[in-house]
Amino acid sequence: MYKTDRLNSIGGTLHTYNDFCFYWSQRKEPSHKWPSWHNHTGSFPRFSNCPTLGLSVERYKLEMDINKEVWELFAITDHAHAIAIEEANIAWPYNWYDSFEIPERYQKSGFTEQRYRQYVERGDALRDGKKLLSGIEVEVDSQSRCLVPDWVWDHMDIVIGSVHHNPINEKTWVEDFFMYLDRILELPCDFIGHPVRAIRRFSTQTHTLPHEILDEVIKKLYDKGSALEINAHYPQFADDVYLLRRAYEKGMEIAFSLDLHYPEEFGNWRYFEDVVEMSEIPFEKLKLFIPKKMKK
Ligand SMILES: [Zn+2]
Ligand SMILES: [Zn+2]
Repeated sequence: MYKTDRLNSIGGTLHTYNDFCFYWSQRKEPSHKWPSWHNHTGSFPRFSNCPTLGLSVERYKLEMDINKEVWELFAITDHAHAIAIEEANIAWPYNWYDSFEIPERYQKSGFTEQRYRQYVERGDALRDGKKLLSGIEVEVDSQSRCLVPDWVWDHMDIVIGSVHHNPINEKTWVEDFFMYLDRILELPCDFIGHPVRAIRRFSTQTHTLPHEILDEVIKKLYDKGSALEINAHYPQFADDVYLLRRAYEKGMEIAFSLDLHYPEEFGNWRYFEDVVEMSEIPFEKLKLFIPKKMKK
């Protein structure tokens, strides 16, 4: 396995990046319709804490009406911890990872169960089987526990497993990152959300993370049958182009996701276009993601 103390390169450069920026700013029309498999809502009753309050299911429907030529579908995938825990400052990652006493308090009071019932009800109401799906974004704590009751999984069209724990130790960040990734890969997920965002401070828009790290990420996703997500919320342009090429070579499915937190991000389908174009892989040749449930 690739280790921090073997870190002797800073990855590769996208040498045509500067030329490519010209096209980035000019793009007006989508080349085809896009799905977005990973998106949040911030409206009442706040199943995700981080998005703006105006980002409701109705806002997604409006977007599909306004920009019919852009969108194929949206999956609404709010945060498991925000559903399970009431206070935003406690629910957000880090604060409950090391103390299960907090989630347990909400479980024992019945709050978590009631919230998940509400969440499943909302999902049943919004799901139309074609343009709107209901799923969830989950993560695990330091003991590999997650905050989703067993009965909930069957009610989700799509499950995304994510690492939100940013490794901060300069000497062990690679091992720490892969430890979290391995843990989340044990859950029955369709794909890993933003698979290298937790270590994005070690790359730039023009320089990738060390290729050895990206190759190992691809291998781990491939071995577990996970699709590769191209996530537009915090663009990692150079990393995403590299990952897309490797995933394509291995025949992996690709899930394009806005990971929407603000209505302003609806325009980020352009990021998908740019990453695919820069990869030089014809879009028609990509194996597009289909949720496991929809394959049955
Ligand atoms: Zn996430
Ligand atoms: Zn997300």
